Amino acid sequence: MDYGVAAQRPGKLREACGVCGGYAQDQPLAYLTCFALYALQHRGQESAGIAAGPGEGRKIWLKKGMGLVSEVFPDSADLKGVVSKLTVGHVRYSYGLEGRNPENAQPLKLRYRYGELAVAHNGHLLNALELRAELEEQGAIFQTDTDSELLAHLVARQGSEQLEEALAAVVPRLKGAFAFIVTDGRKVVGFRDGYGFRPLSLGALQGGGYFLASETCAFDTIQARFIRDLEPGEMVVLDEEGVSSKKIIASEQSNLCIFEYIYFARPDSNLQGKNVHLVRRELGRRLAREHPVEADIVSGVPDSSIAAASGFAEEAGLPYEMSLVKNRYIGRTFIKPTQKMREEGVDLKLNAVQKIVEGKRVVLVDDSIVRGTTSLKLINIMRRAGAREVHLRISSPPVTGSCYYGIDIPDAEDLIAYNRSPAEIPALVGADSLGYLSINEVVNAVGLPKEKLCCACFTGHYPVLPKLRGY
Ligand code: SF4
Repeated sequence: MDYGVAAQRPGKLREACGVCGGYAQDQPLAYLTCFALYALQHRGQESAGIAAGPGEGRKIWLKKGMGLVSEVFPDSADLKGVVSKLTVGHVRYSYGLEGRNPENAQPLKLRYRYGELAVAHNGHLLNALELRAELEEQGAIFQTDTDSELLAHLVARQGSEQLEEALAAVVPRLKGAFAFIVTDGRKVVGFRDGYGFRPLSLGALQGGGYFLASETCAFDTIQARFIRDLEPGEMVVLDEEGVSSKKIIASEQSNLCIFEYIYFARPDSNLQGKNVHLVRRELGRRLAREHPVEADIVSGVPDSSIAAASGFAEEAGLPYEMSLVKNRYIGRTFIKPTQKMREEGVDLKLNAVQKIVEGKRVVLVDDSIVRGTTSLKLINIMRRAGAREVHLRISSPPVTGSCYYGIDIPDAEDLIAYNRSPAEIPALVGADSLGYLSINEVVNAVGLPKEKLCCACFTGHYPVLPKLRGY
């Protein structure tokens, strides 16, 4: 399945990057890292990059560029020739214009007094502006607009040749959501913020060595064995000694983003021991119980809602049908339909199967509604194809707040559920009925205590807030 294209559906939330990297002797590590990036492509499609080393004079080799992994590394076999015992890889999604600046592609590589550093980051720092102002006052010159560069400057100023010592000293100064992988050409260091908003897992490579990745699907792709998820606030060092670990941020809690289960992560990934596909199917079952409806067929919006729709159909005892077909070849190409096509609801990426939906009462399952524009378009497509009724069922609660932790959610006023009751929304999106899954049922489907998850854009209970709001 083409999860990368799914992640770009207009009107959907966007993930803010995938990271990976490893340490191993006598392995084609850059080549393996490229494959791991393919597996993480759904987490970001704007740029991709790999840093590898150490080369001659302990220099770090770097290749990165704008576009998909296949565009940046068209001849992945060439990577077998990159001599390396360590790597850091990155795929990027970013906000607004920042994303189109090639300088912001990662890994970032910087020189400092002890050599070179390569940095890959997933997340968002809440105190980035304060840190940037402080560093600029001290004379720092930034090459990029990214939060990620701040870490490199802080490490460089720390004055310790031991990367893990410098990181242990400066990382507690970072506030917000992050999973970083950093190398100085001697070792690879990965760490998560103290809340564990963004995932990061450790695996063992066949033939020796270790690998870190945002999602476990990357391990499967390179035939690595999953060992465990990193704890919130934990730093893991991969080097010639193997693996060592240290808690560098005091943390009593875990707040993994619940949207990883609902939408972002790949279905074949496991997060905190829970398989994403199975969680989504369970979301669908619970949705059917919470919001039953008289209907003829159940369909899911491809690709991320298919598992939930199959769970809904199973629980409701209704046939699951493929009502919507996705064009997998549009990719990131921006083709503007004419005004008339837009008004008629023509969508280049999705089309309805007329013979399936004609005259039917359809339950359409989607994972979330953000602005509502996508739902309106999808329901128009179903009606144009002859659906008699369209009952929208959403496998998550209404999104009512923004995200401060690296997920691109529009401002609250642009969210369809902001300051509106769910009863007002069906008319706005053209649905015959609408049912959102309650937060308690989402948490039950995940199977972890609510305290171990961030549900803030649904509940308004933010584990940590930027300074302006009292952080
Ligand atoms: Fe995820 Fe929402 Fe929390 Fe952001 S606010 S980390 S999108 S659950």
